[in-house]
Amino acid sequence: MSVWPEQKTHEIADGIFAVIHGDGQMGVSNASFIIERGSALVVDTMTFPEMAMQMAQEIVHRGASVESVINTHHHVDHVGGNIVFSHARILAHPRSIQAGQQLGLPVSIYDHLMPRFKGRFAELELVQPVPLPEHQAVPRGGQILTFSPAHTATDLAVWFPESRVLLTGDIGFKGVIPLALNGLVSGWIEALNALIALEPVVVVPGHGALGTCDDLIVLRDYFLSVERLGREAVRSGQSLRDALAAFDPGPLTGWLESERHAINLERAMKEARGEINRTNLAAALLSRPLG
Ligand SMILES: [Zn+2]
Repeated sequence: MSVWPEQKTHEIADGIFAVIHGDGQMGVSNASFIIERGSALVVDTMTFPEMAMQMAQEIVHRGASVESVINTHHHVDHVGGNIVFSHARILAHPRSIQAGQQLGLPVSIYDHLMPRFKGRFAELELVQPVPLPEHQAVPRGGQILTFSPAHTATDLAVWFPESRVLLTGDIGFKGVIPLALNGLVSGWIEALNALIALEPVVVVPGHGALGTCDDLIVLRDYFLSVERLGREAVRSGQSLRDALAAFDPGPLTGWLESERHAINLERAMKEARGEINRTNLAAALLSRPLG
């Protein structure tokens, strides 16, 4: 049996394609590509070249060539396939580039976190992006939105006002618990509020199935309850474990990667204590690597 999770490509609007990847667990993220007049923009490249190759073939099959790639953030499951598109311009926010350079490729940590792909990270050759220009053109009238911080210190989303399609990167999760390990819960809530205000019709999350604006509302409300519980726990001097025991994940009950509730609540408690904030997040970003 192949180690590679199944990919399904959906044309969600004219020329806008979402690649929904496996079940969205750690190391298995979605990607997208947009085609207009024979040239393609790729958004995120998954974890390994073997994964990105399938998307590259889909693009060739549609008679297009890849001109640019955007990495929504620096996590390996969104940049690991960059090498497949090394002939194109690979772009990311300068802060994500910095984070990626600082992080490097911690092979043994990845082997431990993603045992399904153990042994493969040692062979991975990372291609670092170059800074995204201030006014990067996106096919099909797309706009690049920047959020600092949210899931990480800086995350990009891509919005298509005409078709009301939204590519969230890892600001959006569906069926998989989100992970705020490198981010800031309050910032993530702000980012979700901004995306909800756009009233997207089709939402491509970073992990999990295709969704709608309602899925962003579910995620925003989850983080609001994590934030509230974190503040209450700090105010009453509760431990993380005691606070977690009282936590009801509501509509996220049964989602994959449920151990992330504890990590998210811990981040909310750190923020409530003033240990992490917008300014010092860059330093915190180095402590542990993935999401
Ligand atoms: Zn991520």
